[in-house]
Amino acid sequence: MLKSETIDVEAVRRDFPILKRKVHGKRLVYLDNAATTQKPQSVIDALVDYYSRYNSNVHRSVHTLGEEATEAYEDSRRKVAKFVGAQAKETVFVRGTTEATNLVRFAWGEKYVKKGDLIVATLMEHHSNIVPWQLLAKSRGAVLKYVGLTPDGELDMGSLEGLLRESPRLVAFAHCSNVLGTINDVATICTKARSAGATTIVDGAQSVPHLPVDLASLGADFYAFSGHKMLGPTGIGVLIGKKRLLEEMDPFEGGGEMIREVFEDHSTWNDVPHKFEAGTVNVAGAIGFGAAVDYLSRLGMDKVREHEVRLLDYAYDALSSLKGFHAYGPEDTKKRSGLIAFNYADVHPHDLATILDEEGVAIRSGHHCAQLLMRCLDVSATNRASFYVYNSYDDVDALRHGIEKAGAIFKV
Ligand code: PMP
Repeated sequence: MLKSETIDVEAVRRDFPILKRKVHGKRLVYLDNAATTQKPQSVIDALVDYYSRYNSNVHRSVHTLGEEATEAYEDSRRKVAKFVGAQAKETVFVRGTTEATNLVRFAWGEKYVKKGDLIVATLMEHHSNIVPWQLLAKSRGAVLKYVGLTPDGELDMGSLEGLLRESPRLVAFAHCSNVLGTINDVATICTKARSAGATTIVDGAQSVPHLPVDLASLGADFYAFSGHKMLGPTGIGVLIGKKRLLEEMDPFEGGGEMIREVFEDHSTWNDVPHKFEAGTVNVAGAIGFGAAVDYLSRLGMDKVREHEVRLLDYAYDALSSLKGFHAYGPEDTKKRSGLIAFNYADVHPHDLATILDEEGVAIRSGHHCAQLLMRCLDVSATNRASFYVYNSYDDVDALRHGIEKAGAIFKV
């Protein structure tokens, strides 16, 4: 068990009903948190409470249920914004990080990106921070170029500066890589990008769940993250944008509640953030997201981070002595978030993940929606173990035991 004063893991585990279940007769060891996290009872209760007591549409009806639902939805927006040092008026509820980048692609990109403009992304991006820019570059006749990586798995700042000299319109990058774990220096990159005249969009899908994040000090124009990766429900996330930008942008989708007035030949728009929330929104999801933020706030994000660093250090010690074990990303655990992508001798990641599953250990194997990065690493796939607040040293021990079992089967 984790001998750490940072988080009482035993108590945390009791809050997560799913952790009581067995998989193939073994204790569930859930190490696929970068894909999605488990939900505490308080989040499940918040969803059930909404549906059983005050289910209603928001921003429409004056009846009691409608007012309670609207208040809870807007309260969640305030909580999520405060959690990352942002303003509620700058915080747009979306389906998740993927919808956030696509919103920026359509509502900002189609308006401001012109023929011949440069868009900069990086080789460590998740596909959700690459493909929208490829589509935008195609529709606007713009050019997309990528910041390269150092051998240690960090962004090559020389490569970034070279591209900034070409005055890009947009710079898109992740706060934390979902494969390498690398924590990028958002404040420095945003300052440099702004000096070059570029707008910035930061993918916070793997940072906000794991690190204290203060957007006021980071300076990003747009910042996106997903609720389900931080104990919340699926289908809800946020795009946080500078208010001036959100106000100047075109709407993303047209429909109910995003308008102020509709005439036969044109319409006028609601205030931000509602201008970007067309139709019936994910009320339950937003309320559950607020409950997830409450849970993490009670634990304290400094403690969450400290807990993960200890697990990372322990995992490195436990795993790196295995013959044929190769981890990717910066070696310094202070420079990375709580996950380890690795390969084990020539055991295919899907085979390893299948053997681990038989032991009750859930990890991810594959390209992690980062095929450009896989090509940089010269592999087609990796394994990835990713930690969260309910993981402990005994989970790492179970992972090591499962890898050893695979080693015996494949005669590593
Ligand atoms: N960016 C990163 C770094 C991610 O890890 C993920 C999820 N794997 C996403 C974006 C996409 O998030 P979502 O599927 O919630 O939209």
